[in-house]
Amino acid sequence: MRLGARSQKKSLPENDAMTHRFWLMLNQSWKDAVEWDHPKMEIEQVVCPENPGHRRSGRRLTDLSVILPSKHAADVVWTWQSELLVQDHVLVFIRENDLTGLTAKEVSARIQRTSTLTPPRLWEIQVTGWGGMAPDAGIDIVQSCPTCQYREYSIANPSRVIDPRQWDGSDFFMVWPLPRFVFLSDRAARLLRDSRFTGMRIIPAEELPIKPGGTVSPGLLSRWMPRERAEALGGPLGIA
Ligand SMILES: [Zn+2]
Repeated sequence: MRLGARSQKKSLPENDAMTHRFWLMLNQSWKDAVEWDHPKMEIEQVVCPENPGHRRSGRRLTDLSVILPSKHAADVVWTWQSELLVQDHVLVFIRENDLTGLTAKEVSARIQRTSTLTPPRLWEIQVTGWGGMAPDAGIDIVQSCPTCQYREYSIANPSRVIDPRQWDGSDFFMVWPLPRFVFLSDRAARLLRDSRFTGMRIIPAEELPIKPGGTVSPGLLSRWMPRERAEALGGPLGIA
């Protein structure tokens, strides 16, 4: 299902772009991350005929299936692969507050070592809001393979990965090349913080946990977003 499409670009400056504050939503603790139910999932494997080192997992070809350690899941749940899952009441909260920049897809879940307990209903949140690629972040392509599209980026200034002028105004948004990270508008951060949902923490975007000069290889945007949206955003940038 599609939630609150507010896709038109926010015309700046209706507010001075530079006064916006942005936030990052992270998991509360890696020890609570949940595992994929691997036998139920199929993942594209990308093999590069030019360079065996470019071999990697690509898109998920099936919907998400996870294994929960018990029936008492946090309000917000993360997988080891950094997918963001929420319980029903959190999705209702997101909808009631008209938070934009995401779609939700039901997740198939089971509880470890039992078939009698019913797991809570979970939704995978896919971020569709977009913050582009910030010129001030010092992003460089350090490796790029024309054969398999493998790309490795370095980020000189991780504290500056958001350029408010490129932000589409969504409450949940992604910046490139950091699709694993869920960035939030000030409004979304305030609402979610006040909600006291368990399983997440919210920090200023400037405190992004990446070292200056760190490298990432996120694959293509279509690995992280619904394909149509990925093509619309990533096509012009050659990252769809
Ligand atoms: Zn390659």
